[in-house]
Amino acid sequence: YMGAEALPRKNSHGIELTDPLAVEPLLEEVQKQQGKHFLGGPIVDGVMGKSEEPVYNPASGEVIGHTANTDKHLIERAYASATEAQIDWDRQGGNSRAEILDRIADFYEKKTNELAAIICLEAGRTLNDGISEVREAVDFCRYYANAARQHFAEPTELPGPTGEKNQLFLGGRGVFVAISPWNFPLAIFTGQVVAALAAGNAVLAKPAEQTPIIAAHAVRIMLDAGVPPKVLHLITGTGAAVGKLLIEDPRLGGVAFTGSTETARLINQQLAAKEGPIVPLIAETGGQNVMVVDSTALPEQVVDDVIQSAFLSAGQRCSALRILCVQDVISDNLLNMLKGACEELTLGDPSKLETDIGPVIDEKALGLLEAHRERMAKEAKPLFACDENKKPNTGTFFGPQVVEIEDFSLLKREVFGPFLHVVRFKAEELEDVIRRINATGYGLTFGLHSRIEGRADAVFKRVNVGNCYVNRDMVGAVVGVNPFGGQGLSGTGFKAGGPHYLFRFATEKTKTINT
Ligand code: NAD
Repeated sequence: YMGAEALPRKNSHGIELTDPLAVEPLLEEVQKQQGKHFLGGPIVDGVMGKSEEPVYNPASGEVIGHTANTDKHLIERAYASATEAQIDWDRQGGNSRAEILDRIADFYEKKTNELAAIICLEAGRTLNDGISEVREAVDFCRYYANAARQHFAEPTELPGPTGEKNQLFLGGRGVFVAISPWNFPLAIFTGQVVAALAAGNAVLAKPAEQTPIIAAHAVRIMLDAGVPPKVLHLITGTGAAVGKLLIEDPRLGGVAFTGSTETARLINQQLAAKEGPIVPLIAETGGQNVMVVDSTALPEQVVDDVIQSAFLSAGQRCSALRILCVQDVISDNLLNMLKGACEELTLGDPSKLETDIGPVIDEKALGLLEAHRERMAKEAKPLFACDENKKPNTGTFFGPQVVEIEDFSLLKREVFGPFLHVVRFKAEELEDVIRRINATGYGLTFGLHSRIEGRADAVFKRVNVGNCYVNRDMVGAVVGVNPFGGQGLSGTGFKAGGPHYLFRFATEKTKTINT
């Protein structure tokens, strides 16, 4: 029952962007949304609070709406409401909650174009990325709905001596705080929230401060689909302004966090210092992801997969490729081909279909990337960069960069953008490369390109990562197909979109009756 899915489910199809009939309404929707001014303030008990902080479109720098740092009285109200309402929500059982989650999925699917357009405007993601994200969010809803039916509807009957009846029940932990990043502002936000709901928890959801508008749309859809307004509240604001208030509350039952390793550590410290119950933290964090390419790899495929993994989505995926290890004998040829492919990439307005790479999220992200480029100019060997002249005049754009480094130790922290570091290795050094990957302490994704029989299995056994991809790109994990999440500095597990994820949100109770 922990293995393959027991109930039938299909992943969402999304929209095919090569189909003109599908694309036309999408582009119309983008135009329609472009003219709007959005409100993305807190939603407590189903009512939206006031919004006064600007939200920017990273591609144009324009203000597209307003949000707010939720004040402490409203957070207090959300906690009080959620704590009370969680009891009935939990008792309602897995089947009835699953129906609501399936309805959320249906509503999301109907609004695919609108949601993708807002993701594009607020987070600077390309329309292609926006559509994929809606699909992933839909898949999370349906996958966790099925998990709720399987594990949260009926107790598991257990053996016992004659005259004794034993049962194991799974239920919610109370009020879960779900804290999400801006880089998948709909999919990750939705995945955390619906997982916590499916397991019988009430939720206070805190989206990233850069992307409250798509989160407010998601919450409205969830409420329309039947989630009681006292069970789910949207708490907008910065980590500094509202994060601490959410974590220190004695009514907190659990935390689901996705974001940087540094923030996960801060939250963990805050939880450890708290009085009262011991509160679990599910943390999905950053990576220092490596792809190893040996001399038997197919170069054309490697180039495609490197572009996809390192540069698309402007490199702003936790799974993105950061260090490319290429066997020395093929390295010059491969890097030449990669340079050619980079020159073809289009950097620009993410709402245009021909755009490959949109902006990075904000000035701060751009500043960090520019500082890293300066450092690499001194400490590494710059190889090539995407033509900076192609950069639009507005917004926070950063073209792909490729540098060669001698040693992984130059990279202490995750560099979150389209920045690729190349390391050349000799055939006899493969073991050492794996040792160096493990020594980074991160363990999110890993890629291998090799046609040597047995190599994939041998490397898989040795490399300490959550997701290992062989002879393909290393991004775009599919719910229920590539359960996703890391180890070590990259996260606690269990994997999102996998069969064990909901258990982390639950508590267990055993009933023993002497009959
Ligand atoms: P971040 O850590 O800066 O912020 C993430 C969230 O935490 C935001 O909502 C933020 O407001 C909140 N936060 C910040 N300080 C807080 C505090 N003290 N208390 C409570 N909440 C606080 O990360 P980011 O820049 O938004 O996202 C990018 C990072 O997320 C990258 O490191 C990326 O690798 C990681 N990520 C990981 C996964 C995964 O599944 N492993 C997926 C996506 C992104």
